[in-house]
Amino acid sequence: MGAGAPTITGRTAWRALRLPAAGHDFVHARGDLFESTDPATGELVAVLQASTTADVDAAVAAAVAAGSRWSSNGELRARVLYGFAQALRADADRLAELLTREQGKTIHEAHIEIAGSAKMTEYYAGLARLVYGRSAVLGDEVTGVVLREPVGVVAVITPWNWPLTLLVRSLVPALAAGNTTVVKPASITPAISVEALALLARQPGLPDGVLTCVLGSGTTVGESLVGHDGVDMIAFTGETDTGIRVMKRAADGLRKVALELGGKAPNVVFADANLDKALAGAENAIFTTCGQICTAGSRLIVEDSIHDELLERLAANTAGLRVGDGLDPSTQLGPLASAAQRDKVLEYVGRGKTEATLVAGGAALEGELYDAGNFVSPAIFADLPTGSSLLRDEIFGPVLTVQRFADEADAVALANDTEYGLAAGLWTQNLDRAWRVGRAIRAGTIWINTYHHFYDEVEVGGYKRSGIGRQQGLEGLYEFTETKHLNFDGKATLW
Ligand code: NDP
Repeated sequence: MGAGAPTITGRTAWRALRLPAAGHDFVHARGDLFESTDPATGELVAVLQASTTADVDAAVAAAVAAGSRWSSNGELRARVLYGFAQALRADADRLAELLTREQGKTIHEAHIEIAGSAKMTEYYAGLARLVYGRSAVLGDEVTGVVLREPVGVVAVITPWNWPLTLLVRSLVPALAAGNTTVVKPASITPAISVEALALLARQPGLPDGVLTCVLGSGTTVGESLVGHDGVDMIAFTGETDTGIRVMKRAADGLRKVALELGGKAPNVVFADANLDKALAGAENAIFTTCGQICTAGSRLIVEDSIHDELLERLAANTAGLRVGDGLDPSTQLGPLASAAQRDKVLEYVGRGKTEATLVAGGAALEGELYDAGNFVSPAIFADLPTGSSLLRDEIFGPVLTVQRFADEADAVALANDTEYGLAAGLWTQNLDRAWRVGRAIRAGTIWINTYHHFYDEVEVGGYKRSGIGRQQGLEGLYEFTETKHLNFDGKATLW
């Protein structure tokens, strides 16, 4: 570590949560106990109870029964959701600490996640009163009225990397559109999910059953939810292979799915780019959330003439990053969220060392501050052979590959050489090129001279193996609706 061993200044006395506790009766869980632990220290964060099949049945039954008062009252939906946003803001300090303790991300990022979740909730609270269809004159005395109706019961299944944002991004538009919901949070981050949901569940006016939550393993609780006859739609965010499994299971009941899945984003730097900005952008792209973000710019693709300079500067900066406990305000990279995730990252680093050049990092960190946690120093690889698994697989950790390209066509070919299509970055001062290359890369979001900037108003989602459907923006609301055509014909002659 270039900047010396970090000292922990942010950590305060902490008692593990026991959940569900009072005020959490929206959680249906009467099964075995399971624990959530701090990936920086191994300390116990929370003890929770998993759900049984009977709990899943009860949660879905409550959601089925809750229907009409909620779906027919946009003003109520707006008020409840707006109240939730304010509650998130008011409780931001406590939630941010819990988020960092449970997920490992820096406290700075935890605050960004909570504020962003509140902002997104406010956006959809506004739209909750704008869920309506349209009408059309279809002929003499013939009118068509197209209603926009909720899908019904939506199961929301979330991952652990941005557990609040990704919960809000599916749950809140589903509720705004008038659906009732059953949430299954990731088992690595259940406490922050339940604590945030409790703020929503306590909003005055939220009818019973509109929000229920089940806890426990994806392969048991998640699967029984996905296969449940009472569920009409599954909004799933997670790995591509899990998403495929969810889709296959949902197909048995012909249930609608919205899938937000993995990524392997290219980040392309042309020689005419502002190199200082491109460098900072490349670091942000890969090291946000310690590389555990679906849009991570994990493949840096650099024009020949600036490749060596950029790589050298990147390696020096990376070696100076402060890895440590996310509660220390000076930490720039926290731990991996679980021991399994750390082991996966180290396995890829090991593979990389045999086939490419390791330019920086890639070590399991040791010493008093690191021994109980899942810490890895951020790694950069260059000189990768075509077909390397480091270029192909979503590693979901702080591992960056750097490739070189000769010309624009070469850059586009390398960028598109992936099964994924979630996001991409592009650095150039040539506007024509920005348009051409931006159009040519097959991904749902293309950042030009920036990276990782998200806006509630615009859609995100995946091409190829990165998903089906769109979230955020108006499309993110309409995902959770069905349209129905009511046809009025004043003088129809049927035969
Ligand atoms: P997983 O696919 O492992 O798990 C996601 C959720 O699905 C968890 O709640 C999990 O439960 C549950 N689950 C697991 N198996 C099943 C199953 N068979 N049926 C139903 N539910 C199941 O993903 P991770 O939590 O590891 O998250 C990381 C992944 O998420 C990465 O691939 C990342 O790219 C992707 N992601 C995509 C985003 C996007 O917008 N496209 C955003 C963020 C992440 P449990 O926790 O108990 O295993």
